[in-house]
Amino acid sequence: MAAARAGGEASPQVPFSFEIYPPRTLAQLPALHETIRVLAEAGPRFISVTFGAGGSTTDRSLAVLTHILRETRVPPVAHVTCVGSSYAEATTVIRHFLDAGITRFLAVRGDPPLGLGEDDIVFGDLESAAQLVQLIGRVHAELSTYREREMPGVPGAVRVIDGERVDIAVAAFPNGHPRSRHRYEDIDALLAKQAAGATSAITQLFFHADEYLDFVARARAAGVVIPIVPGIMPITSPGRLRRVLELTGDARPDSLAAALESAPDAAAQREVGLAHAAALARAVVAGGAEGVHLYAFNNHETVLGVLRTAGLIPERRS
Ligand code: FAD
Repeated sequence: MAAARAGGEASPQVPFSFEIYPPRTLAQLPALHETIRVLAEAGPRFISVTFGAGGSTTDRSLAVLTHILRETRVPPVAHVTCVGSSYAEATTVIRHFLDAGITRFLAVRGDPPLGLGEDDIVFGDLESAAQLVQLIGRVHAELSTYREREMPGVPGAVRVIDGERVDIAVAAFPNGHPRSRHRYEDIDALLAKQAAGATSAITQLFFHADEYLDFVARARAAGVVIPIVPGIMPITSPGRLRRVLELTGDARPDSLAAALESAPDAAAQREVGLAHAAALARAVVAGGAEGVHLYAFNNHETVLGVLRTAGLIPERRS
């Protein structure tokens, strides 16, 4: 089995990671496994797997996470959400993942159900990602058995040593979350997540490097010390651009929109999106980002193309 494992050997100078989503049907699994194999070979820091708010994808997300765990050398990261969950339900999901060997999480509140808006969200016991971060920490602490080490020179005495650490990433919003009333509320939300135990943050997509770099500068000035990794999404069609603008409420990026609309076909649109994402990746890295996280949409070609064009992985040998 070990010989068949993919990835982990490369040691890129600028770390990168990928996000994928669980397939909607079992028939799509083999194609996703191939995508995971190719993504893993590129040597990412981790591959994260999204989670449907309300637990709609628990089994499929877990199947993909355990596949990554068993078949590659790349650590999987489990997204978990809290919208509409009771403490007991969220605790069960977290236990389930920990029992399967998953020790890295991305704790998010969760998107509103399809077709509904922010105001329609029905919260359960947990109302924010910060509360979910605390819950993951607590469940992990309860499950991890402490270990003891003998104290040299003191026969019979032992010292308790910490158990395995749990990594908890959270979301950050360079252009503001649709719910936030002023630009500092997003920084306050991030500070609350850090205080709750978050160990890193990944940003929502953004269109201009300055949006990310300014946000990081404001966050650092306010006391955020955890890494804030830029989330980069290749926007490869006018339809995808429309959908993300609906989700994020961001202002329309005029030059990208015009370039996508004037591209003659799908292949040309893909090139526009890929070049835009690569330029963004280069710019944030030049501005000090210590890594990039790519929204892969279960397609390896585009995100690997972004990394190659940005000079973050070597050109493909032909
Ligand atoms: P929270 O941190 O709870 O807060 C969101 C916003 O609400 C804050 O920025 C702040 O403006 C406001 N807020 C929070 N607490 C307070 C407070 N106490 N008082 C006042 N205002 C407050 N969704 C999914 O369903 N599944 C996924 O797998 C998933 N993965 C994601 C991965 C990344 C990297 C990102 C960026 C988003 C992801 N999402 C996912 C989407 C996410 O669930 C939504 O963007 C959601 O609307 C916000 O999540 P959050 O964790 O930032 O929420």
